[in-house]
Amino acid sequence: MRPAVFLDRDGVLNLSELRAGKPYAPRRCADFQLYPEALPALRRLSDAGFLLIVVTNQPDIGNNLADPAEVAAMNAQLAAVLPVAEVVMCPHSQSAGCACRKPRPGMLLDAALRHDIDLTASVMVGDRAGDVAAGQAAGCRTIWIDRGYAEPAPSNPDRIVASLSTAVDAILANFRNDVSGDDIQ
Ligand SMILES: [Mg+2]
Ligand SMILES: [Zn+2]
Repeated sequence: MRPAVFLDRDGVLNLSELRAGKPYAPRRCADFQLYPEALPALRRLSDAGFLLIVVTNQPDIGNNLADPAEVAAMNAQLAAVLPVAEVVMCPHSQSAGCACRKPRPGMLLDAALRHDIDLTASVMVGDRAGDVAAGQAAGCRTIWIDRGYAEPAPSNPDRIVASLSTAVDAILANFRNDVSGDDIQ
């Protein structure tokens, strides 16, 4: 088994669109823009031996607000540029009651089976409360990137940071040569 870092997509790897202080996924591939820090940050994690899995809710598909082909093109662009093993997506609407939509842990649990991931040695990095809750439900450590949104903060993330680079700093400081499990300091 190996450790993974699960990464939310919008607001973590690429810019979210902000409206009234709340983040929204881009709906057109033309508006999809990776953070400049994403590639160097993920390279550091990959070089340290972490499998990288993107886990993203895209309810605009289930709500018929986004073209699935546009979203697929964004995910393909991401996977072509960043060293990720898989982009796992929940396309369902908020009301569908699926097991994959965060804060449920379905995407993480299924990916763990597919890739032989040690969840207790793994970390979930996200920018919203549902990301942290999903990581906690899967038995992972959690890091919240606080982008200053006008919405409630997550409950009890192991670490709060201001950027993806800082999240990676925290992971490497605590897990390099030690995937067995000291808590993040
Ligand atoms: Mg997000
Ligand atoms: Zn789903």
